[in-house]
Amino acid sequence: MQFDAQWLLLALAPVFLACIAWEAWHLSRTRPRVASNDTPDSARYAWPDTLCNAALALMHQGADKLAWLVAIPVYAYVYRHFRLVSWQPGLVAWFALFIAQDLLYYVFHRASHRVRWLWAAHVVHHSSERLNFSTAFRQSLMYPVAGMWVFWIPLAMLGFTPEQIVAIVLVNLAFQFFVHTQTISKLGWLEYVFNTPSMHRVHHARNARYIDRNYAGVLAIWDRMFGSYVEEDAHDAPDYGIVKPLASCNPLKATFHEWLAMARDFARMPDWRSRLAALFAPPDWCERHDALGLASATSAASATAGTRCGVPENNTEGEFGSRSS
Ligand SMILES: [Zn+2]
Ligand SMILES: [Zn+2]
Repeated sequence: MQFDAQWLLLALAPVFLACIAWEAWHLSRTRPRVASNDTPDSARYAWPDTLCNAALALMHQGADKLAWLVAIPVYAYVYRHFRLVSWQPGLVAWFALFIAQDLLYYVFHRASHRVRWLWAAHVVHHSSERLNFSTAFRQSLMYPVAGMWVFWIPLAMLGFTPEQIVAIVLVNLAFQFFVHTQTISKLGWLEYVFNTPSMHRVHHARNARYIDRNYAGVLAIWDRMFGSYVEEDAHDAPDYGIVKPLASCNPLKATFHEWLAMARDFARMPDWRSRLAALFAPPDWCERHDALGLASATSAASATAGTRCGVPENNTEGEFGSRSS
């Protein structure tokens, strides 16, 4: 009987759950319940957070199953009519597929932080203020709507079958489970080649020097090649979460809050140019747009009153530049 790659993540569920059980046990023995200033230790498990993560994983699995029903025929059509290469079955083909998909994952992930339409789905993964293995389960059922599957179409053009595409996408995602932990420190030379727990802790942090960095799936080389790599600094501990905290463990709120905010911004914008920007510009575009409007209004009012223009310091463009919401 042939194994259907679509079931890979569910087949690995016992491994994932065993890692979570070990990590929870290990943390309960080695780390304080409260880190400092009454702040909960961000590595430790808390039932509301962990249950929210589990619910999000199940919702994502259901949506993914439905999405493959649409995506696989598209990949098959492109593979049949537009493929540029025909591979001999074997290790070389799988290695080429792995490299190509990991590069496309980097592109998808970087775009997910810089295009609000994609961020509306991806924000779910970043909205917890804890980071442990269960954080890997925080995925969005809206990824198919956002269009994650579109990023894999080039693989069909490169001559890979739909079955191969589904398999490598899920292998990449399965690997990433293991980088969501604070129990493993830096891994020597592996840091130069692979996405590691240290590298991915930086990615989940909202500290100014860490935010929107380290987009790797499996290979670290893309971040180093394209200038998005930042090393974890022992003197600047990651502060996990998003700039505008979600403050909820409701999986529905986690899934839809940014879509609703985006819809509200779309509706209130005065013209089509800014409406499209509310959907497809960087996630902080609306804040910057509002701040500039406020600044112009303030300077106009100041000019009318005959006083010096006083733009509030925290409303300058630089305050919001390059930050995800
Ligand atoms: Zn991310
Ligand atoms: Zn992550």
